[in-house]
Amino acid sequence: MNNQASKFEGKKSDPQMQKKLLKTLKLQTEQLSQFIVRLSKHYEGVSPELDKELQKLRSHLGGQANFSLAEISIGKLTGLIMQNSDSLKKQSNKTISILENAVKQLQSRDNLPDDIKGEATQFLVNLQNNSSGIYSSLPQFEQVLDIYRLALDNQALFKKASIKPLENKENLSVSAQLHAEITEELRELIGQLSLSNKKDKQLAEVKAQLTKGLDHEALLECCLIIIKAIIRDVIKERNNAEKFVSGLHKSLSSVTSAVDKSIDESQNQFQLKMSASELMRGHIETIGHAVDKSQDLAELKKQAAKILGKLSESLEGREQAEKDEQLILMNLLSEMKNQLTSLEKETSEFKHRLIEQKYQSHHDPLTQIPNRTAYNERADLEFRRWKRHKNSLCIAVIDVDHFKKINDSYGHPAGDKTLQVIAQNIHRCLRSTDFLARWGGEEFVALFPQTSLEELKKPLETIRSQVERIPFKFKEKRVSITVSIGATMLLESDDINTAFERADKALYEAKNAGRNQCIAVQG
Ligand code: GH3
Ligand code: MG
Ligand code: MG
Repeated sequence: MNNQASKFEGKKSDPQMQKKLLKTLKLQTEQLSQFIVRLSKHYEGVSPELDKELQKLRSHLGGQANFSLAEISIGKLTGLIMQNSDSLKKQSNKTISILENAVKQLQSRDNLPDDIKGEATQFLVNLQNNSSGIYSSLPQFEQVLDIYRLALDNQALFKKASIKPLENKENLSVSAQLHAEITEELRELIGQLSLSNKKDKQLAEVKAQLTKGLDHEALLECCLIIIKAIIRDVIKERNNAEKFVSGLHKSLSSVTSAVDKSIDESQNQFQLKMSASELMRGHIETIGHAVDKSQDLAELKKQAAKILGKLSESLEGREQAEKDEQLILMNLLSEMKNQLTSLEKETSEFKHRLIEQKYQSHHDPLTQIPNRTAYNERADLEFRRWKRHKNSLCIAVIDVDHFKKINDSYGHPAGDKTLQVIAQNIHRCLRSTDFLARWGGEEFVALFPQTSLEELKKPLETIRSQVERIPFKFKEKRVSITVSIGATMLLESDDINTAFERADKALYEAKNAGRNQCIAVQG
């Protein structure tokens, strides 16, 4: 304003020029006043005191401007603005540190996916490099809100996956997929467990819960219950085995002691027999002497009768000893026979239990066909045979099409029954040397030894068409269910897993190609 005034002073001699300058000055003053009014609006909201003074300034500058009053207002405002800018800066720093803490807290969450964690770290680095300026926290606020929104979306997805663990696998985060896999594994495990614990209510409940779907915590609880049940089973089996071994030991020691006793008795009997024989020999010798010495026949007869009586007594004694010995031997034999019979019974019970256990651990409880454990053993065997004999070996993965729809439309029990029927039908299509197992869920895996890829086409097509023809009926409605099959033949460079993966890939090609078809790939 002083510059303008001096310019004006310099030109006051020229009235024309004076008028022009006055006009310009008026215009500039008006513009400056308007600018100050606008600027003052921008500052509004920082503090009530500042607002009040800004309003005053606007009224002094609006309409007919009163510059003297405006000048007073500007003086007051300068002081207030200086005070406020300090506290604003403090407030801004506080906000930034709150943001920093919020992001750090989010980062420490276990189930946060790596990409969101990465964004949070990047945010903290940027914050350190660029944390000055009163307004810098506003875009940072936006960024933090974005990170939180992503984390919340992920959490929601995670929760959804926990409630329905087997759906939309491709959309789930890694931890939700893990959740779904654990649920599936537990379902398999509990299937086998509940076979040997039919009356266990807790296991039945867990089984029902696993079918419905669980959240994270409940799944952990289920794990615990299942682990406890397994340990209980193992302890029970160990006790059974201990009982069997101690029974065996008892039987054997009672047989041993019976044999020992009979040996003792036999020795006694032997002594008795020996002394009876000794006596008899003595009597015979006495007769001999009597015959030698005697001259009187009547006396000899008398003596002979007496000795013969004693001889017959000794003979009876010896016979009795022999009979006793035989009796002891018979008793021993019958005791041993009893012991052996009970031992045989216990052994056969134990063997039976072992066979039953082996069957259960190698078969799927729902479909009664071999399970994944059995598949692993058989695949290993077939692989070794194939390596040795160099015959061709094929592997096929069979998956029921749109099986989820069966469960959703007709219920889980109907789904279970469907799986049983499909498994039996596929099994019927195979040769006795082929092998079928339930891989899990609605997926099966088959091994075809001594079969080339060309020869495989026929049995695969038989399986496909056989399943398609099964006359399923749900709610009085005829429903056709189909399977897709992916298969391959083992190559020189393969192990059983690489071949399985190739067959699985072919299965997905069959799915993408419209389902209800078989795709067999060379390699
Ligand atoms: P796609 O044709 O692509 O294979 O579709 P899909 O629906 O068959 O495949 P998805 O993997 O989406 O669903 C498989 C379903 O199988 C989900 C799961 O609930 C169901 N399932 C898995 N195991 C069992 C079981 O033992 N009994 C029953 N009833 N359903 C099961
Ligand atoms: Mg399927
Ligand atoms: Mg599947």
